[in-house]
Amino acid sequence: MLVSLIDILFPRMCVFCDTQKTLLCDECKNTKLDYYKTHFCHVCHKDCAEELVHRECQKNSDLNGVIVVAHYNKFAKILIEEMKYNLYFSISAEIGYLMKNKLLDFDIQYDVIVPVPLHRFKENYRGFNQAELLSKVITSKVDNCLKRTKNTKSQVNLNRKERLANLKDVFQLKKEICYKSVLLVDDVMTSGSTLEECAKVLRKGGVEKVYGLVFARGD
Ligand SMILES: [Zn+2]
Ligand SMILES: [Zn+2]
Repeated sequence: MLVSLIDILFPRMCVFCDTQKTLLCDECKNTKLDYYKTHFCHVCHKDCAEELVHRECQKNSDLNGVIVVAHYNKFAKILIEEMKYNLYFSISAEIGYLMKNKLLDFDIQYDVIVPVPLHRFKENYRGFNQAELLSKVITSKVDNCLKRTKNTKSQVNLNRKERLANLKDVFQLKKEICYKSVLLVDDVMTSGSTLEECAKVLRKGGVEKVYGLVFARGD
């Protein structure tokens, strides 16, 4: 009864057009989002069709590959902002579904998904971690075993060197873990330094393979 009343008062509508009953209609899903058609290496950013990361690039990264669904265009930005700031939880289901689907193109085995953590101040303020919401759409095996010890500045206006300095020792394991392979999940990446720092901590904790999966990548 309550649910149907809410549906009547606040009918679902596509974020981008007037289509009813869905937050992201098929038409907009296919035309507004700019999907990656080929896989790229997260280290050198060049196309990488045969493997998840070029063999010669692997030595420069703790990540065994990063999978990205779409370019961070203005529509991807709107979707993520609606989810984060307007508390449109249902959008996480749409975004998470696209991520889950993308993952099917790759042969990745993982024991668990670890969401990239927010600092607890930020999470308390927002009430949720969007990376955790997305993770739970993808699998029920989610472990929030990482924590962010510092409330860092936004990475957006920093160069690569500043980004790495900003993230130094920011992530820690909350407990001992015994996973062999982990999939890190986040909503957006820019340089990839956040994923890289998380992967470093997981590796130190004994994880052998760490993959990344993000919805959108900004340039
Ligand atoms: Zn639409
Ligand atoms: Zn490469």
